[in-house]
Amino acid sequence: RRDDLAATLRSLDGASYGRYKGLSGRWAVSGIDLEVLRVQADPFAPPSRIRLTVTDAGLPPDLYATPDRRRALAGFLLRGLRRALRGTPVHVDAGGPEVLDRSAGTVRDDGVVVVELGVPFPGPKRRVLGREAATLLGETLPAAARDAVVGADHAAARTFVETVEDAVALRGQLAARGLVAFVADGAVLPRRSGVDDRPLDGATPFAGPDSLHVVLTAPNAGEVGGLGVPEGVTLIVGGGYHGKSTLLRALEAGVYDHVPGDGREQVVTRPDAVKLRAEDGRAVVHDDVSAFVAHLPSGEPTEDFSTTNASGSTSQAASTVEAVEAGADVLLIDEDTSATNMMIRDARMQQLIATEPLVPFVERVRPLHAEHGVSTVLVMGGSGDYLGVADTVVMMDAYRASDVTARAHEIAAAGPARTVEHTGFPAVTPRVVDPASLDPTARGKRRVTARGRDTLTFGEDDIDLSAVEQITDRSQVAGIGRALALLGDGVLDGTITLAEGLDLLDAELDRRGLDALLDGRPEDVARPRRHEVAAALNRLRSLRLR
Ligand code: ADP
Ligand code: MG
Repeated sequence: RRDDLAATLRSLDGASYGRYKGLSGRWAVSGIDLEVLRVQADPFAPPSRIRLTVTDAGLPPDLYATPDRRRALAGFLLRGLRRALRGTPVHVDAGGPEVLDRSAGTVRDDGVVVVELGVPFPGPKRRVLGREAATLLGETLPAAARDAVVGADHAAARTFVETVEDAVALRGQLAARGLVAFVADGAVLPRRSGVDDRPLDGATPFAGPDSLHVVLTAPNAGEVGGLGVPEGVTLIVGGGYHGKSTLLRALEAGVYDHVPGDGREQVVTRPDAVKLRAEDGRAVVHDDVSAFVAHLPSGEPTEDFSTTNASGSTSQAASTVEAVEAGADVLLIDEDTSATNMMIRDARMQQLIATEPLVPFVERVRPLHAEHGVSTVLVMGGSGDYLGVADTVVMMDAYRASDVTARAHEIAAAGPARTVEHTGFPAVTPRVVDPASLDPTARGKRRVTARGRDTLTFGEDDIDLSAVEQITDRSQVAGIGRALALLGDGVLDGTITLAEGLDLLDAELDRRGLDALLDGRPEDVARPRRHEVAAALNRLRSLRLR
């Protein structure tokens, strides 16, 4: 460890940009261990990566006593560091309102804090700007780290940690209570806008109906009351613009923990809940869609369906069976983003079209639960076809939830009945993926690159993830890319099924944390769920089966 980083940088002033490379390694800067992990090749390349290790953080030990507490505390400190470095070119991958495991920040079980930052090394005209770099690395960074870590507000840190711990505990009670989700009374669900994740000012706080009221216990907040969404088939109905999609989106987000002040801190959903939607144009590679597509006009087998350009309905059918294959136990579906012909077919259309190959979801939704234990929460304001198949019907009226199950069942019993043509839910054939087809090399180089929130470059492929709605941010996309590479190189062996491979991947991530994905190649990575890893794999055009 050298202790003359600032002096070294000043001495390099005016040298060619490549001389920055010589900084790689460990330095001591104002009592902080600073490691230059990677130096950018030129001023326009992605920023250099710096790791700061704070050994004298002085945090209260109970705040880092469990893995969930460590994840939360790291999230808290990263957000503070991001604030401390605002106005500088340094990138701190603290994330949005979700509290995820991130490579940018870790608190070790001995209380040592490690953060990794993206620092663009200044280099106008491809020359080392020594003085500026010396100030940035030698003063600004260590001062910000001291400020945010050693000077952390312990009371605020405790609130953050306890909020996350409570969410984990609430989520953990769902299965035993026969619930798929819980929305605490008083929660704030709407966001400011589609591009602004902060809570909407002046929103009507959530209030659930008495008939569906449950009380869960959180270790810090104590008893928390709210809407318990039961297992089975749940319908969210109501007039347009009354808050149906907002409620469903809160349930989608409930698979993650949220920061204090988000409004959805106590909105939790089972960890294997998966949002589904239509996505016409997506690729489908060897899916068994026979549960939803009885036959195709082309005569192709529907047990082994591939296309480079799926329709709205076949894309949603594919995503549904893929989610079940990957282990989803709750499906979240919104009429706004569904293919109508995949969801419903009413009595009159049944009379007119005798050769319809699509089996509407309304015929599969009950057997999916009865035979496979997969529940569905569905927003449907436009058709009454689901009233008769729903176990629970929640109505949103001016953002308030009420229980209209009994009335819905009455109406369903009195109304015109559609003919039920299909029964049961055929088991989905488990797929065995050829690991060699998960190859991240392109033109001889390994290419696993997140291009923002919506696109993953994986080898020769650009995977479009814009319709995979539960992905949080670019770093999670980076995590997904690395998880795919790991599946192909070391997890899948050409004999185990995809679901078994995802089990192994989860076990590896639980055991080794993000190191399992990083493997000595530092980058901003957030832990992905198995479902988003599977979603990316399923959209990989080069995928082959054994
Ligand atoms: P729906 O799906 O029933 O048509 P949305 O969920 O899209 O309705 O909500 C319609 C509008 O109402 C959105 O702009 C949303 O932000 C707003 N909104 C939803 N819930 C609330 C609430 N609790 N308080 C205030 N505004 C809300
Ligand atoms: Mg809607």
